[in-house]
Amino acid sequence: PGGLVAIVGRPNVGKSTLFNRIVGGRIAIVEDKPGVTRDRLYALASWNGRGFRIIDTGGLDFGGSDAIVKSIRAQVELALEEADAVIFLVDGISGITPADEEIAGRLRRAGKPVVLAVNKLDNPNRMIAQYEFFRLGLGDPFPISAEHGLGIGDLLDAVVRRL
Ligand code: GDP
Ligand code: MG
Repeated sequence: PGGLVAIVGRPNVGKSTLFNRIVGGRIAIVEDKPGVTRDRLYALASWNGRGFRIIDTGGLDFGGSDAIVKSIRAQVELALEEADAVIFLVDGISGITPADEEIAGRLRRAGKPVVLAVNKLDNPNRMIAQYEFFRLGLGDPFPISAEHGLGIGDLLDAVVRRL
């Protein structure tokens, strides 16, 4: 009921942290190693009285660096097939990477509703980092800190509007 929201993004940007923050439990496994989440994880969430399902697409198995690229592609294809809206998560500390550009291109061509969230903006000094991401052509970036719970309300307002 209420639609399906998929979180996509390359490994280590904070997808599982954001998923846990939105769901309000500790369902996904978060670790420093990229790709640690083992399973695709669905959960129920709600915002402003609006219920939706959310999926952390980071849970695909992969081994080497070649496999990582394939896994990211698979995640994005899955999200585009199943989801009603996509949260594309990027890392505001590392800036735009080639993998981010590839995902952005795929999302732009698909025409599904996408909300771009720039994570790890934990304090005001880092806020400036969000503007670089306008270049991905996916509209206004939403600055967040999944770890500290900053910017999540504005992000979810935008997500729920697109369901
Ligand atoms: P995933 O691979 O995209 O699922 O990323 P994870 O959620 O596992 O997080 C990867 C790393 O980024 C972990 O070390 C997290 O603690 C860290 N991280 C996640 N969100 C934030 C954040 O808002 N700020 C900072 N500084 N680190 C974060
Ligand atoms: Mg994860």
